[in-house]
Amino acid sequence: MNGKRLTVNDYFHYKGGDLYCEGVRIEEIAKEIATPFYLYSQKSIIDNYKAFDEAFKEIDHLICYSYKANSNLSICKVLREEGSGADVVSGGELYKALKVGVEPKKIVFSGVGKTASEIKYALKEGILLLNVESIPELELTNKIAGKLKKKASLALRINPDINPNTHPHISTGLAKSKFGIEISGAKEAYKKAEELKNIETMGIHMHIGSQITELEPFVDSLEKIVELIKELEKEGIKLRYLDIGGGLGISYKKGEKAPTPKEFAERLLPLIKELKCKIILEPGRAIVGNAGILVTKVLYIKKTEEKNFVIVDAAMNDLIRPTLYNAYHEIISIKPITGHRSPITVDIVGPVCESGDYFAKNRELPELKFGDLLTILDAGAYGFSMSSNYNARPKVAEVLVEKDKYHIIKKREDYEDLVRGEELR
Ligand SMILES: *Cc1c(COP(=O)(O)O)cnc(C)c1O
Repeated sequence: MNGKRLTVNDYFHYKGGDLYCEGVRIEEIAKEIATPFYLYSQKSIIDNYKAFDEAFKEIDHLICYSYKANSNLSICKVLREEGSGADVVSGGELYKALKVGVEPKKIVFSGVGKTASEIKYALKEGILLLNVESIPELELTNKIAGKLKKKASLALRINPDINPNTHPHISTGLAKSKFGIEISGAKEAYKKAEELKNIETMGIHMHIGSQITELEPFVDSLEKIVELIKELEKEGIKLRYLDIGGGLGISYKKGEKAPTPKEFAERLLPLIKELKCKIILEPGRAIVGNAGILVTKVLYIKKTEEKNFVIVDAAMNDLIRPTLYNAYHEIISIKPITGHRSPITVDIVGPVCESGDYFAKNRELPELKFGDLLTILDAGAYGFSMSSNYNARPKVAEVLVEKDKYHIIKKREDYEDLVRGEELR
């Protein structure tokens, strides 16, 4: 296998027996900063963004990258430089977006539980849209806007009651979901918004879930929303923005297919291009998911009667998707495995004191040994951003590769970081 170029994707590939990210040999970074760490390819992030932008170029649109997928400042800045806006779901994410210089008029703010201080923050900054998810939130927003002597520019998030056929924890557009205003009450809600003095109703928002790998749920939802826009228009309520949310899935498993942004656009454009609305898109996973990996080291091989465990130095607190969603991630070795190591079936697990702490179960991998470096692929989205300090484990470092250079874009935490802010009684 030596010397042969074995591509994982265009950004992570084997060369001369080593795994590279763009022009950087991953083992070199591991030697320099130790493991575990997240590693991102800048070009991959940019190319993913451009694919979306290109796919919708025939209509007036704004891409608001969804910060919760990965809100590292450097990654957000790379996207801002490409022209991306921001989809934020908390005051903290709004702060980050403003910090990297996203124009307020390119920021949308969703979330079912915005606090009064978050609403005030967003109104003061003059963001493009507050995506309001309930009548009480609408009333509170009106009140706060009044106090600030401002008009709140907002969209109502409408729940189209569509099953996106994804994991129940990441479905958000079903009638039983906590998100948005149910479509049956949408007209009433818009009329109410029209009556409120300090509200300027500018748009409509939907977001039906995440990791959606079929186009039908998007089409079905959008059809319902477009029909609603037309009905509202008949009643004299004109909307300037249609925010179709995020949710487009990626392929985590070899052979599993997810629609490309181009295929996504081709199905949706016929439904929306005649509308007089500017289209907003909120992709998260589809921009950063396959742009990042988690690099980890084998600590122990533990053979029991039932199982072969490979214990690695990363854990569920670093990447919780397998534990939380039973998510599948490809795991590959930094060196292509050469002939003399035969495959065995293993569970890859972390050091955390929970049986749910695993990255893969019953996975066939070449026999591993202490010190081997593994990479968990497609970990760029909902990886670091969902990480925690559980078991008092310092959060790992994040590294961004730009061609043949790499930048540490988040320092590994140390023990001091773990106790910052804590007081001894
Ligand atoms: C999480 C979220 C997104 C992004 O979802 P992806 O599946 O990562 O594309 C977009 N919009 C809203 C409102 C969200 O909550």
